[in-house]
Amino acid sequence: MEEYIFEEVIIKPSNAPKFVLEGEEVDIWSEELRKYHSRSIVEYVRENLLLYEKKGKDPFAEIVGKEVEKEMVKNALMSGSNILFKGRKGYGKTTFSKAMAKLLPEKLLAVKGCKIHDDPTRPACFSCKRKLLEEEVVELTWVPRKWIRIPGDPMMTTRQLIGGVSIQKIREGYDLDHPEVFTPGRILKANRGMAYFDELGAIPSALQTLLHELLEERQITTPEGDIIPMKIDTIFVSSTNPANYKGVADIKEPLMDRVEEIPIGPPETLKEEIEIGLRNMSLKEGAILPIWHLKILARAVRYARSRELRISGQIELEPSCRATIKLFDHLRASATRRGHKAAMLSDYGDRYEVVKLGMRSRLELEYDDGNEKDVVIEKLVEEAINRTCSEVYAAIPRDSFGGMMEEISSFDEIDVEKQSPKKMENVWKTILLMARRPEEISSAFEILLESIRRCTGLVDRVAIGKYAYVGS
Ligand SMILES: [Zn+2]
Repeated sequence: MEEYIFEEVIIKPSNAPKFVLEGEEVDIWSEELRKYHSRSIVEYVRENLLLYEKKGKDPFAEIVGKEVEKEMVKNALMSGSNILFKGRKGYGKTTFSKAMAKLLPEKLLAVKGCKIHDDPTRPACFSCKRKLLEEEVVELTWVPRKWIRIPGDPMMTTRQLIGGVSIQKIREGYDLDHPEVFTPGRILKANRGMAYFDELGAIPSALQTLLHELLEERQITTPEGDIIPMKIDTIFVSSTNPANYKGVADIKEPLMDRVEEIPIGPPETLKEEIEIGLRNMSLKEGAILPIWHLKILARAVRYARSRELRISGQIELEPSCRATIKLFDHLRASATRRGHKAAMLSDYGDRYEVVKLGMRSRLELEYDDGNEKDVVIEKLVEEAINRTCSEVYAAIPRDSFGGMMEEISSFDEIDVEKQSPKKMENVWKTILLMARRPEEISSAFEILLESIRRCTGLVDRVAIGKYAYVGS
C-alpha cells in the first residue's frame, strides 16, 4: 500500500482503466474530452489569457481603473507565478482575485469521489493512484471552476490548512480512502483551481513553512515527520496589509521569495472612486444621487486619504472604497426616506450625520479624545462641499451671471424645494446645463445657490434649502 504514496503515477491510454462518465464508458483522449484533463491550471489560465489578448479584450473588465496592476497580474499569470496583493482593506484585492478565476477552465474531468478532484491521468492523492492502477473501471465526474478563499487566521491549525495524512494508519491496514488516513485541508481542496489566501501574514509562521513546502517542493510533512509528495496543482493568490499595520504579522522570507508582490492602492482618480461606489452600492433604487453629491461624498473620503490637507495629517487609518460605497448608500437612503426625488443638502443631516454614519468606523485618528473624529469628518465634508461648489460656480456661463443675480434678488426668499426656477431665465439656463434629468432640478437649483453663497457671499442661506439675496 505504502508504495502508492511515494510513486508518481501517470495514466496513458496503454495503462488506463475503463473510464465511465455519467453512466457511460468514455474515451478521455477523444477530441471531445481531451481538453478537460492532463494539463495544469497554469496552462489553462495562460491559454485563456492569450485568447483575451488576441481579441484585445480586458479579462478584468469589472475592475475600475488599475491599468498598471492589471498588466502586472497578467504577466505574473502568464509566467505561472504566485501573486501577493499588498494593500489596505477595501481597495479590491478580493475582487481582483475573484476576477482572475474567470481565466480558469469552466469545468474539468476528475476522479469521482476524490477528495481533491484529481485529474484521471495525473493523480495526486494515493487513493486515486491505487484506483487508477488497480481497478478495471474508474468513474469520473465533472468539477466546476474552483475559487477557494482561505481566511488568514492566527489560530489556524495544520489540519485545517494542509489536512491530515497518516502513513501510520495505512501501515495498520486502514483503507486509503479512510478519513483517518487522508483528510485534505483548505489548500488541498483548491487542487485544480485557484486558492485565495486572504491575509497570508496572519497565519502562524510554522504554517507558512508548510505552505512553502507544499508550493515549492510539492510535498507535505506529517506531524509524525513523514515526507509525502503531494503534487497539487493550483494557482496561489494571496493578500496582505502593508507592514506595521495593527495586528498583522509578517510574511516569512522564504514564502515572500515565492510570490510576486503587486501593490493595490486607492482609486487614482475621483471619477474611478465614484464609479466604484456606484457599481457596488447595495441600494439599487431610490432617490437619484446627482453628480455634485457623488463628488462631495467621494471627495470627503479622498481628502481623508490625501496628505495635502492639514486635517488629514491626524488620520492614522484611512477610509477605503467601502466608505465611499456606504456613503452613497446612506445618502440615497436618507433622501429616499425624506421623499426626495434627488438628494438635497438637507439629506446629509444637520451636522453631516449621514457621512459620519459611513465614516466613523472606517477611519482612525492618531489621537482621539472622544469627539475629535466627528470634528475631522465635518471638516472633510466642508472641504468637499467647498471644492465641489467652486466647480459648480466656475461652470456658470459668465454672461448669465448678472441676469441670474437680478432674478434672484427679485425674491425675498427662495425655497429650492417649493419654487420652480423655470421663470428665472438665466438661472434656468444654468440649471439645464447641470441637471441630467428633470428630477434633479431642485437639487441643481440648491447646489447652484449654495455655490454662489460660498463663492461670492451675494446670497445667504436663511435655513437649509432656503436662500435670500443679500447683495453687496
Ligand atoms: Zn484523488
